[in-house]
Amino acid sequence: MSPLYGAVEAGGTKFNCAVGTGPADLRAQIRIDTDDPESTLEKTCTFFRAAITQHGPLATVGVGSFGPIDLDRTSPTYGSITSTPKPGWANTDIVGFLSQSLDLPVAFDTDVNTAALGEARWGAGVGLHSLLYLTIGTGIGGGAVADGGVVHGLMHPEMGHIPVPHDRDRDPYEGCCPYHGDCLEGLASGTALRDRWGTAAHSLPADHEAWPLEATYLGGALATFILTLSPQRILLGGGVMEQQHLFPRVRNETARVLQDYLKLPELHEDLDAFIAPPGLGSRAGICGALALAENAGT
Ligand code: ZN
Repeated sequence: MSPLYGAVEAGGTKFNCAVGTGPADLRAQIRIDTDDPESTLEKTCTFFRAAITQHGPLATVGVGSFGPIDLDRTSPTYGSITSTPKPGWANTDIVGFLSQSLDLPVAFDTDVNTAALGEARWGAGVGLHSLLYLTIGTGIGGGAVADGGVVHGLMHPEMGHIPVPHDRDRDPYEGCCPYHGDCLEGLASGTALRDRWGTAAHSLPADHEAWPLEATYLGGALATFILTLSPQRILLGGGVMEQQHLFPRVRNETARVLQDYLKLPELHEDLDAFIAPPGLGSRAGICGALALAENAGT
């Protein structure tokens, strides 16, 4: 019998927690409002204790967290959220709290790395050794799987903050990133859309001028990621990408920026499959946290 794992998708708004062995076998789930760190983490532990009583022991708990986070195992603050602007959450030791309270090993990574791992294990990346997952929501983040593992380095990639060409005649908006102004997240996140146009992304009609502009930014960013990471597939998730009409626009813009330089079927006749929605949909994060736990437990 395969061991049971715990999973936490630790978001700035909700903590989604689950116990199971995979997407087809989630035995208990809960959504907890993200409040102050102590009460949120205590509720998380209460859920797992009840699940253990009902379903049996867990081998490991995997946590995909909002960040930035410290993933350096030699660092005294390993396992913590570091410099988040979210009130009260800077320097929160998530791994320390959960591992001590539950007396279990806890695997830890970013929310987007975890979602990328979930898609590689059970979603639209099955069978690929290289995959890029991007979330375009309140913020923008990316996780890359290469040779079967998630890419780490100095810390973790922060793909949402790359600089992108900004034509101020076409788009005089200054951008909303508190660090960079008009980085990718500053110009193309859901926060930027709301700020620039005065209404939420999901309220903007499909023929609104916001969308060709959005596609220009995302297509440029995707071309950069294709040229630097060479992923076998790119999955675009997050609230903004719920606008399905964005997919063909982003594919066209990506192809336009690349200018037929890479003569691969993935970038031509197979482009619809190459730039695609996540196979697990909104479950990528929680399933990825299970995959993270599974990887750590084997
Ligand atoms: Zn930025």
